[in-house]
Amino acid sequence: SGGDPALAVAGLEVRYGAVTALRGVSLEVAEGEVVALLGANGAGKTTMLRTISGLVRPRAGRISLFGRRIDQLRPPRIVALGIAHSPEGRRLFGSLTVAENLRLGSVSRKDREAVAGDREKIFTLFPVLRERRNQQAGTLSGGEQQMLALGRALMARPRLLLLDEPSLGIAPLLVQQIFATLGELKAMGVTMLLVEQNIGVALALADRAYVLRTGQVALAGAARDLKEQYEEVAAAYLGAG
Ligand code: ATP
Repeated sequence: SGGDPALAVAGLEVRYGAVTALRGVSLEVAEGEVVALLGANGAGKTTMLRTISGLVRPRAGRISLFGRRIDQLRPPRIVALGIAHSPEGRRLFGSLTVAENLRLGSVSRKDREAVAGDREKIFTLFPVLRERRNQQAGTLSGGEQQMLALGRALMARPRLLLLDEPSLGIAPLLVQQIFATLGELKAMGVTMLLVEQNIGVALALADRAYVLRTGQVALAGAARDLKEQYEEVAAAYLGAG
């Protein structure tokens, strides 16, 4: 609906037993925007994405997708409303082929012809996936699995794409390639919330960024400005724990 942001999170609090993982976190992602969520290990980044996807229930706060409240919904419903999540560690179906994994990304779609077209686009973005379409996903290299996870998320034609550490465990050259592809998706208007440990590549892609420190927003602003505050951003990382 109209001017509502793609994603609005307000006053989010998440606990795991005695551990408070997020405390009073608020953030927004506008339609077409790429927002990076940065922070040290344990800062709460993955928890944030899992809570948006409905995999973790918040204790307090609200989450809205294009003005519609989603924090009480179950994960399949949230997927159906247009959120795709490419999780850390990729979570592919290792014994299924590349093509089968891509098909799973589009199971909720009815527009069969558009699905076929999107599959072609993904094969154009990632030619290696076309070459290996009949190979078991579990036998792909780490970088190839990351591409497949991203491709599978895109097959849902998400209104909001959540990406958890697309650079994790990947060689620098492949990181460049994946971020170049994310840049193409951004140019196509795909809205993204990106969790990254790699500050440099994340700030080069993002429009804005939030830095989490022990479950709270420590810094936020335009990616351009945060690049200049690099020392402060890095300090927020080191200061975690
Ligand atoms: P990383 O960069 O290492 O993935 P992160 O910023 O994504 O870290 P989270 O994984 O969200 O951080 O974890 C935030 C905090 O919540 C940490 O202290 C973590 O130990 C704790 N935590 C996460 N998941 C659980 C869980 N299932 N049960 C208990 N504590 C958890």
